Amino acid sequence: MDKLEYIKEQLKNYDGEELRFMEVCGTHTAAISENGIPNLLSPKIHLISGPGCPVCVTVTAVIDRLCELSMTENTYVLTFGDLIRVRGSKMSLADARAEGGHVEMLYSPMDAVKMAIERKDRNYVFAAIGFETTTPVYAMVLEEAIRQGVRNLKLLTSLKTMPEVIRWVCNNTDNIDGFLAPGHVSVVTGSKLFKELSEELDMPFVVAGFEGQGLLAAIYALMKLKGHSGFKNMYKSVVTENGNGEARRAVSKYFEKCDASWRGMGLIPGSGMRLKEEFLQFDAGSYGLDDDHMPPGCSCAKVLTGEISPDECPLFGKMCSPQDPHGACMVSTEGSCYNYFISGRTKR
Ligand code: SF4
Repeated sequence: MDKLEYIKEQLKNYDGEELRFMEVCGTHTAAISENGIPNLLSPKIHLISGPGCPVCVTVTAVIDRLCELSMTENTYVLTFGDLIRVRGSKMSLADARAEGGHVEMLYSPMDAVKMAIERKDRNYVFAAIGFETTTPVYAMVLEEAIRQGVRNLKLLTSLKTMPEVIRWVCNNTDNIDGFLAPGHVSVVTGSKLFKELSEELDMPFVVAGFEGQGLLAAIYALMKLKGHSGFKNMYKSVVTENGNGEARRAVSKYFEKCDASWRGMGLIPGSGMRLKEEFLQFDAGSYGLDDDHMPPGCSCAKVLTGEISPDECPLFGKMCSPQDPHGACMVSTEGSCYNYFISGRTKR
């Protein structure tokens, strides 16, 4: 029997105590569904989608601010796809656009700079949302804007970092047995960060890639490490111990640590990044955007912390579907609810 077949057999036939492993990366959430991984596991191994989808963890105050800006004369909000359909406390950016707000989709981040140069008569606000993976991109946009002397482009930042929210999950729940460390984030931070976190939290961490075989091997590694502060980097082709120092240097030139509000979890100290004081002329009012008023009946808060499975939300598949999303976790292709819906996955 080859190694993969052996791992599959071990995962399928596992009959020990119940195991709950959390992934904190939206791309892992999508890859797990796409590869049908839950069906290959014993009913005693549970995969939980944690707070790894940037759009899902963005609080409504940020959406509200973007909607407000889009309705401001001569101000144009620039955003990537998923965010446009997420509801704020009153409306989404798509609603704002339908009511005459200026909202434009971006396909490449540098287009923001190009647009600002081409239309100097307009003010542009780039919705800068994401984790360690995308913050360097916003730093590059800012660098280019400054280099070209652009004065009509600002960022509305809602940037977050992983270690603090993982600590929050560990301190506020007692039902996680290990983490699939985020693959993309690890490329930037380096695997060392998650090794240290494993030791600090006395919890197994495995850095995994996004192929089905790699995910199965990583889950098997977590199963073997259960109960220990073990660590494995199983994505060594891409993730190095120290990560991408150049990307981190670009980030530290423009951004600094700050407290950040997460949907369903509230304010988590030191879990965000904001523009440094010397670059505040490029900020579009990102400070103090902490309020979170989820749509009535939406259980995203419980889903994001693993308290319930998406299909346990009373609105799942009834009042909430990818065609007509009620909450943020059903909007994004990286959202837990979206992935449960499209793959037909259920709690197990
Ligand atoms: Fe929110 Fe919809 Fe998910 Fe329920 S199914 S938690 S309403 S996104």
